[in-house]
Amino acid sequence: MEQANMRPDEATAAYAWVRRQYARVREAVEEAAVKAGRPPGEIRLMAVTKTVDEALIREAIAAGASLLGENRVQELVRKRPLLPLESCEMHLIGHLQSNKAAKAVECADMIEAVDSLRLARELSRCCEKQGKEMRVLLEVNIGSDAAKFGFAPAQTAQAAEEIAALPGIKVCGLMTVPPISDDQRQTAKFFSRMHQLFIDMRGKNVDNLSMDILSMGMSGDFPLAIAEGSTLVRIGSAIFGRREYR
Ligand SMILES: *Cc1c(COP(=O)(O)O)cnc(C)c1O
Repeated sequence: MEQANMRPDEATAAYAWVRRQYARVREAVEEAAVKAGRPPGEIRLMAVTKTVDEALIREAIAAGASLLGENRVQELVRKRPLLPLESCEMHLIGHLQSNKAAKAVECADMIEAVDSLRLARELSRCCEKQGKEMRVLLEVNIGSDAAKFGFAPAQTAQAAEEIAALPGIKVCGLMTVPPISDDQRQTAKFFSRMHQLFIDMRGKNVDNLSMDILSMGMSGDFPLAIAEGSTLVRIGSAIFGRREYR
């Protein structure tokens, strides 16, 4: 959807469209939960707002969105003061460079893509400096994809224990982006492995580590992710339309 320089009638149509799409996706999430025999309240819906203009994000909030996701710190920092966030959280969901950790700690409500010990240590330092506690998820490279960030599945539990011991950081769960695949069974397998890892780690009862959030599922695969145990789905294009990278 073209967002900038829209005529007023186009803009009005786009606003209504986003509100309708948000409601539709909300319903689809609930349906998927019921189909999987899970209480719909167990799954949070995140509206992924990267590249989306503030006016359209406001429509999603008006339609009930209470959780927003941005993948770049700069964009999160820029948009934050422009949005009515009284009852809204903003999570950082993209790869974070250590040199932007301070900004992220200052401005995000949760950092979902902690993908290295080095980054976790830097976040911890920033939290101590700012007198803050930051909730984080650990990103798992569930497909062992060389092009992706994240902990290898076999190293995640050990990393989680080390990170949970760092001051200022609270590990709340795991997130993943599985490899792109046309084969739904393959995608389901990755989600299922993530869920198993999540359950195994939950069983360990490590101090300062709570496995409450399993963040997986995007526009193309969220019903599958919900069937396999996701507790947070991150939806962009199904709510806002195709992204225009400018
Ligand atoms: C963009 C993005 C999403 C949303 O993707 P859609 O396919 O548009 O729903 C989810 N998670 C992450 C980490 C993203 O960067």
